[in-house]
Amino acid sequence: MVMEKLGGSLQDALKKLVKSGRIDEHTVNEVVKDIQRAMLQADVNVKLVMTMSNHIKERAMKEDVPSGMNPREHVIRIVYQELINIIGKGTDIPLKPQKIMMIGLQGSGKTTTTSKLARYFQRKGLRPAVICADTFRPGAYQQLKTLCGKLNVTFYGEEGNPDAVGIVERGLKEVEKYDVIIIDTAGRHSLEKDLIEEMEQIHAIAHPDYKLLVLDGAIGQQASEQARAFNDSIGISGVVISKLDGTAKGGGAISAVSETNSSIAFIGVGETPEDLEKFESDRFISKLLGMGDIQGLIEKAQENLKEEELDMEAMMRGRFTLKDMYKQLETLNKMGPMKQIMQMLPLGGMGVKVPEEAYQVTGEKLTKYRVVMDSMTEEEMLNPRLIGSARIKRISMGSGCGPDDVRELLKYYKTMQNTMKGLRGGKFNMQKMMKKFGM
Ligand code: GDP
Repeated sequence: MVMEKLGGSLQDALKKLVKSGRIDEHTVNEVVKDIQRAMLQADVNVKLVMTMSNHIKERAMKEDVPSGMNPREHVIRIVYQELINIIGKGTDIPLKPQKIMMIGLQGSGKTTTTSKLARYFQRKGLRPAVICADTFRPGAYQQLKTLCGKLNVTFYGEEGNPDAVGIVERGLKEVEKYDVIIIDTAGRHSLEKDLIEEMEQIHAIAHPDYKLLVLDGAIGQQASEQARAFNDSIGISGVVISKLDGTAKGGGAISAVSETNSSIAFIGVGETPEDLEKFESDRFISKLLGMGDIQGLIEKAQENLKEEELDMEAMMRGRFTLKDMYKQLETLNKMGPMKQIMQMLPLGGMGVKVPEEAYQVTGEKLTKYRVVMDSMTEEEMLNPRLIGSARIKRISMGSGCGPDDVRELLKYYKTMQNTMKGLRGGKFNMQKMMKKFGM
């Protein structure tokens, strides 16, 4: 995984939060300290880390816990949002015909990224073509030509000709019928005057829709200097951070980019043409924090859980959702042990066989089930079939219960659902009976 070390440390910090009995100032401070340590180790700028820490502490203590969310989820959500603030939203490069100019220093991964990008558009059904205008680095022409050949991507270049501007001019004519034209320009060891001039000339001829700066993720915070310098010279529309697969300093480049008011479009996560990921900050942070679907948590906060009446008829027709079960359990909790309740119902006479597990639910378990369900989204409650392993993991983290508890609850729900379906066949007026029990 990209930035495994940072992800691991952040996840450990959040686990502490989940495990702690109470969420108070002390707990929040402890967790923030762990997050600080993790971010600094990943080379994130100290000032940014401090600002973020203060925001988390302040918000966790001052903001009200949104309805439908427990205090742990509330803090996790704040951490998530503040991390997104640090890395910025990301640049969206649309899937449409366009010209893209690649810029960056030599060795940054520009040529490799050019081929990855061609592959990216090819996979999305657009026809890419590549122009090699890197006439500075001796191996660039052959490297790009070979990469494009392997991918079956159209390539234009003029081996041995140093006139990068002329190559671009002719290349554009040659490949004009293609959807996405990617121009790989030359890099230098630093941003020198002749490099700027050449970039400006190519820019003037090509009129690219996007200018993507490739930054080596391993250089950490130095990335901010490069991002700023390139932006000041010809302006950049987005950044690709390469080599994030092999560095522990990736946090430096990532945070540096948003610090300089640019934003990340893609990240490079390996050497093959497939190793390019579109950068979406919410997905990136969710992955980093080991949460399959944290978006669900956010949506949950925005949802206004409406109190609905139990629809017994629908339930017996088989539409018995987790939400129905939640309400049932709430009522049952007030009434006493499940076994007693079930025994009061003349189920045997109706030919309904109630599985033993349905009786095994003690008051303690009911409480646990409710805690687990508190960490589910409305959508999951209404359609529990959506809950796969990634969501189980998230629900487990959010609720502080183990994944086995979530699975046990889902199994119990299935049993109850089948029981409800079984009741449908009975002659007994179930609705009346349930009403009597206040269900
Ligand atoms: P350029 O001078 O900017 O065109 O740099 P290259 O594209 O030739 O890349 C320099 C080196 O970095 C090459 O060995 C690439 O294989 C390697 N590289 C580029 N991107 C990545 C990446 O995302 N991950 C890894 N591990 N290596 C990369």
